[in-house]
Amino acid sequence: MASPTPRSPGSPRPSGTRAKARAGRIAIVGRPNVGKSTLLNALVGERIAITSHHPQTTRDRIQGVVTQGKTQYVLVDTPGVHRARTKLGSRMNQQAREALEGADAILFLTDVPDSKRMRIQAGAPAGAPAPAPVMRDSDLAIARGLPPGVPVVLVINKIDRIANKADLLPILEAHGRAYEFHAIVPVSALKKDGTKSLFDALRPLMPEGTPLFEDDVLSDKPTRFFVAEFVREQVLRRTREEVPHGIAVIVERFDEAPKVPIIELGIVVDKESHKKIVIGRGGSLLKEVGTDARARVEALLGKQVHLKLWVRVIPRWYESDAKLRELGYGEGS
Ligand code: GDP
Ligand code: MG
Repeated sequence: MASPTPRSPGSPRPSGTRAKARAGRIAIVGRPNVGKSTLLNALVGERIAITSHHPQTTRDRIQGVVTQGKTQYVLVDTPGVHRARTKLGSRMNQQAREALEGADAILFLTDVPDSKRMRIQAGAPAGAPAPAPVMRDSDLAIARGLPPGVPVVLVINKIDRIANKADLLPILEAHGRAYEFHAIVPVSALKKDGTKSLFDALRPLMPEGTPLFEDDVLSDKPTRFFVAEFVREQVLRRTREEVPHGIAVIVERFDEAPKVPIIELGIVVDKESHKKIVIGRGGSLLKEVGTDARARVEALLGKQVHLKLWVRVIPRWYESDAKLRELGYGEGS
């Protein structure tokens, strides 16, 4: 088995004794694009989950480990549950369900609407009073599908969008009326605002027991997983609609023997036309992807690396069990 990823050498080590330790698993759930991966990154203090404005960016269950004194929180980011159209899609849904089973607490994420955009869509004049906030039907549907008996903390994300903080109160009240949440915590994952209150709400929900991971562990996933994800993230950020869903990244060589380790990765695409897009004019897009992904890999490893990228066409890889396994989306990977 591959070893877990430690925290980068520069990051502060948690301190404290282990007497009366608490440790638990927390599943992060919510609609696509509410900011689940951004929140996981804010809570663990390093950017491990990749994010983009495309829905369904997260394909894997990623555990981020936070050890604060005697308490260890194992946060599980999940792919948002959606209607699966491919084998990859069914596997993503299964990952989300598995994260919920065995969770000691659930972080149920929603976001405040982008008020300017809502106004324009509704055609309301600029000065008109905003309609009273309600909990969205789509959120209620998710809440009702959660396993009974597991405490649910509602996190209202993207509060940086609210200019007047008084507008937050009716939103909190509307959610409190609609469903029995253990607690409701407003945050801005992007600005790392409210994370302390969130840990305060979670701490008493963590069962007493020994830590699940060593206290310098950042994630259960091995380093090579993150290297591939960081490359995928940079491609997603530079391509549109059709291309992102057809992309996978595989580590083909990870040679740590040289002073500057050499990592070779294959970017797998569905179609020849997508290969052209990912390479870009004169190789420009691939070069940008390489530069930005390398910066993130170096931050995680705390040292320089050589990244080499190749683009490979494997038609309909996301429909083949064998290819999914090969690309790291297999059972139990
Ligand atoms: P996920 O699909 O739930 O994992 O969502 P992501 O974490 O990938 O975030 C989706 C989008 O929302 C990204 O463009 C984020 O930058 C953005 N986002 C996440 N958190 C915040 C926040 O606190 N404020 C604002 N304004 N945007 C956010
Ligand atoms: Mg995500």
